Amino acid sequence: MNDIELASVAAIKAILYPDGFHFSKSMGQNFLVNPAIPDRIASTLPDDGAWGVLEVGPGLGALTDRLSRRAARMVAVELDDRLIPHLENNFGERSVSIVKGDVLKVDLASLVSEHLEGLHPACYANLPYYITTPAISALLEAKCFEKIVLMVQKEVARRICSAPATPDYSAFTVYVSYFAARKTLFGVPAGCFFPAPKVDSAVIELDPFSAPAVKVKDEALFFRTVRSSFENRRKTLSNSIAPVAGSREGALAALESAGIDPKRRGETLSLEEFATLSDAISAL
Ligand code: SAM
Repeated sequence: MNDIELASVAAIKAILYPDGFHFSKSMGQNFLVNPAIPDRIASTLPDDGAWGVLEVGPGLGALTDRLSRRAARMVAVELDDRLIPHLENNFGERSVSIVKGDVLKVDLASLVSEHLEGLHPACYANLPYYITTPAISALLEAKCFEKIVLMVQKEVARRICSAPATPDYSAFTVYVSYFAARKTLFGVPAGCFFPAPKVDSAVIELDPFSAPAVKVKDEALFFRTVRSSFENRRKTLSNSIAPVAGSREGALAALESAGIDPKRRGETLSLEEFATLSDAISAL
């Protein structure tokens, strides 16, 4: 690999433009062009030789470059086959395997065991915005990462890291907090990307728990209760969870046995209260 700074417009012009490359909006392609940002993201990975990284959407490799200097091994999953030869050329001499694939379709746990065996597995990504929610769900449900560091739109970061009874608190907040501890690391202005997106971004860290944050009798019912509670924010809980509880009477009985005021609104409930409520519904 030559010494060109990959997090730069100059690298995009020198490496990709001669091939007639154009950025694909439908693949969420906004590449990092401010070197300080991938430096800062990669600094969150311990460089003690004990970590392996799966990167989603390496693009031209701005982040891959930094991460591969700290990780013992890496595997990078990229959907756009126009980028594969450049990635292979740039990182072929480092311990980086390039896999052409769709993060929503590949078997993440198998990739981790195949490429990162014996290491602490981490996932890093500047996520393509069009798959933010399903990609985060796939990463959490793969249950194979000890650390997940992601660039997402600022609004999504706020939603994921919010607390009960705040405007950003949502069913997705509860979903993520069931699987992982959440924190926003720092904000990233739109001008750090090329082409610049319309909105600012933020880097978040999710640290998956070894077991879910709360123990529930029926996980599918727990997630249905959460979704239903947020479906209409103006409805009181006794109305919003009636479809899950089978009837308004069922909802009232479950709320009473869970010790939750039926006049409360879903967005005020903590993760623990959602767990108690869904267990009360399952006992109806
Ligand atoms: N990591 C690079 C950077 O920070 O400069 C590029 C980030 S760009 C926001 C998103 C990258 O994800 C692009 O390279 C895009 O081609 C790739 N991508 C889009 N959809 C994908 C998918 N479903 N699976 C894997 N990669 C995908």
